[in-house]
Amino acid sequence: MGDRTVSGKAFIDTLYEFSSIISQTDDISGVFPPLVELARKLLIFDNIVIYMDDKGELRPIFAKSVGRGRSKEADIPWGETFVEKVFESGKMAVHQDVVQGPDEDRLKVPYYIGAPLRHGRNIVGVLTMIRFGGPEYDANDRKTFTFISDHIGQLLERDVLVSTIEQIEGSQRMWEMQENFVATVSHDLRTPLGFIKGYTTTLLREDTDWDVPTYREFLGIIDDEADRLQELIDNLLDSSRLQSGTMQMNLQTVRLDVVLSDMVQRSQLRDIDINLELEIVNPGVVVKADPMRLGQVFDNLINNASKYAPGSTVIFRLEAEGQNAIIRVIDNGPGIDPEHLERIFQRFFRVPETRMSVRGSGLGLYICRKIISAHQGTIKAESELGKGTIFIITIPITVEEVLD
Ligand code: ADP
Repeated sequence: MGDRTVSGKAFIDTLYEFSSIISQTDDISGVFPPLVELARKLLIFDNIVIYMDDKGELRPIFAKSVGRGRSKEADIPWGETFVEKVFESGKMAVHQDVVQGPDEDRLKVPYYIGAPLRHGRNIVGVLTMIRFGGPEYDANDRKTFTFISDHIGQLLERDVLVSTIEQIEGSQRMWEMQENFVATVSHDLRTPLGFIKGYTTTLLREDTDWDVPTYREFLGIIDDEADRLQELIDNLLDSSRLQSGTMQMNLQTVRLDVVLSDMVQRSQLRDIDINLELEIVNPGVVVKADPMRLGQVFDNLINNASKYAPGSTVIFRLEAEGQNAIIRVIDNGPGIDPEHLERIFQRFFRVPETRMSVRGSGLGLYICRKIISAHQGTIKAESELGKGTIFIITIPITVEEVLD
């Protein structure tokens, strides 16, 4: 038989401890072993099993053998027929199996006690304990057992409630995110559209003659805003394709130094206020990549540097470290507060300090991270305020030997 039970004040203290574990637990994983330890101080038993109803079948969700038969766990009776009866009747019951033949092995004489586990009026499972070879359960044992089973019933009911609440909160969050999404997107789409409409209407006014420089200035604004609208729509489409996993990646074996130097040349042709430098520490590093999508990541980082670190030099440094190609994109702009460093990769997140002064949608880095993940890689940012920002991209090298 298990350890000796306690009596007197120690018994009351143990009941209290049992209750308080139950009332303080909102995650049931790992809670049963300490409860079993406490239950052993209140009641003598060899086995304890919690059965839960799973679509009409009682399945054990927790079983522990603590006394006799511990070493023969697989062979000993666990009382399935008895618990079915308790479940059907909905009442606490005790039962003693009949000894067959002269066999003296007391493992063949299990004494069961079982009680239904309830959620409100519904019976959802059964708690049972087994003593091998007695003693029979007296009135006090039955009371203590009812205390234990009622408490375990409450614990399981709360677990169901907690997970139902979590599901509801999850759908609520999803709903709020969708609401935010629609609000952010309509705002972002409306702003350039407002400019385009406003300047076009102004130019079309019949009561005013605009001189050529004004015409050109207004058309320039319309052109920029149309580009911005195009970029936003592209970003939105990309982000929803990346989110749903429907973006096609055209993965090829590419030399990263070639991709990077093409990209730098292209960018320098564009009219951006940024000085790009390329440092190829290890040439010939080969990865499996979609060059167009990688180019999109680099373009995004350059655009960000030109928006948030204007006038800064941006260094692209390519190195091979072990099995990975590492690309560092380094600027010496104002940097990003470390508290935002992880959040800048979330959809729609924009650093509050620059949100008003620089235009953007908060989709760029989210798209970068999704694209790099599709290459089995990672992207993260390191920064020190006032010193600059480093974006670090890691992509696994495809061929181990480095090509020349
Ligand atoms: P967006 O530029 O549209 O706001 P991103 O996802 O590209 O969205 O960037 C998220 C935020 O990260 C930006 O709002 C900006 O505050 C910050 N950020 C990105 N790149 C830099 C950088 N090079 N220097 C400082 N801040 C940056």
